[in-house]
Amino acid sequence: MRAFFVALLGLFTAISATNAQEAGPKVVTDIAPVGALVAMVLGDEEGVSVLLPENASVHSFSLRPSQARNLQRADAVIWIGPSLSPWLERSIENLAPDAISVPLISVPNTLKLIIREDIGFIEHEHHGDHDEDHEDAAHDEGLHNEDAEEDHEGEGHEEDDDHDNMINAATADPHAWLEPNNAVVWLDEIAHVLGEIRPEFREIYAANAQVAAGKIMITAAGISEKLADVREIPFLLAHDGTQYFEHAFGVAAQAAIRDVNDATPSVRRLHDLGQQLEDAPVSCVMLDNESGYKEITLPSGEMPDRFGTLRSMGQGQTFGPDLYIAMLNDVADTFVTCLKP
Ligand SMILES: [Zn+2]
Repeated sequence: MRAFFVALLGLFTAISATNAQEAGPKVVTDIAPVGALVAMVLGDEEGVSVLLPENASVHSFSLRPSQARNLQRADAVIWIGPSLSPWLERSIENLAPDAISVPLISVPNTLKLIIREDIGFIEHEHHGDHDEDHEDAAHDEGLHNEDAEEDHEGEGHEEDDDHDNMINAATADPHAWLEPNNAVVWLDEIAHVLGEIRPEFREIYAANAQVAAGKIMITAAGISEKLADVREIPFLLAHDGTQYFEHAFGVAAQAAIRDVNDATPSVRRLHDLGQQLEDAPVSCVMLDNESGYKEITLPSGEMPDRFGTLRSMGQGQTFGPDLYIAMLNDVADTFVTCLKP
C-alpha cells in the first residue's frame, strides 16, 4: 500500500475569482466530481455546470435540449473523455466548437488502468506492484486526442518514452476520478486551462489548485487508514466502476456483474460469474446507483449477507467545491460498512 505524501497545509481557504465586475469562465462538465474539481480551482461553483443528472448512468445518457444551450455558451468543456460519456463527444464538436475541450483522461501524467476483461479479478491482481505501477504512471505522458493536442500546442507537453503505451485514453478504464492522484494531476491542468481563459486570475487559480491538492491528499491518507482492516475482504461489484479506488486504497473486487461500460451481462458472463462465486463466495455486494442496479440476485442463486451502495458520482452531496472530497469519504465509508466482518 502506497503511503500518501501529506502536504503541509496551512489554514488556507480558496479564493474566489468571481465577482460582479468580472464573470468567471463558464465551464461545462460531464459528472459532478469533475465539476467539483473545477469549482475548487475557481473558488466556488459559480459558472460551473454538470450535465449528468444525479441518478442517470453516465454510460448511456443523452443530452437534453436545455443542456445543449448551456454547452453553446461554454468557454470550456472539462470532462473525463469519450470512453466514459460517448454521448458528449459529438455534442462538443457540434455545439461548442470554440470552447476548449479538456478530456481529463488524456491529460499527461494521468494514471490509466487497463479495462478488466476477465470475469474474476483477483487472480490477475498483482498486489505489491502498486507503488511501482504508480511511479511508472508518473512518467506516463499519456496519449492526447486531437482536440487536446490542439489546445496545448506549443505548451511544452513533450511526449517522452511512454512505457505505458498499451493503455491509452481510449483503452483505459474511464472511471479515473476515483484515483485521488489523478484528481491532483487534473487540478493543475484545470488551473492552467482556466488561466488561459481568464489570464487575470491565473495566479489565484494556481493557488486554489494547490490548496485543493493538499486537501485531497490529506483526505486520501485518512481513507487509507480507514480501510486498513477491510483490505483483504472480497466483494462483488454490480458494475465494474471502482478499479481506480481499489488501486489507490488496496481493496480488491472479486468480480463484477456488469462490465466497465455497464452493459447488461450476457448469459455466458452470468454463468461464469456463478462458478467463480461458488469457488470463492463473497459476503458483500456493492451496488452502484450510477447503473440504477438496485436489486440483484447472485448468479449462484444465493443472496449475500450485505449490500452497499456506492455513490461515486457524488450522489446525495450538495454540489460545490466540497463534493469531490465528500464523495471520496462517502465511497470509503460504504466500503467499511459493507466489508466489516
Ligand atoms: Zn461506470
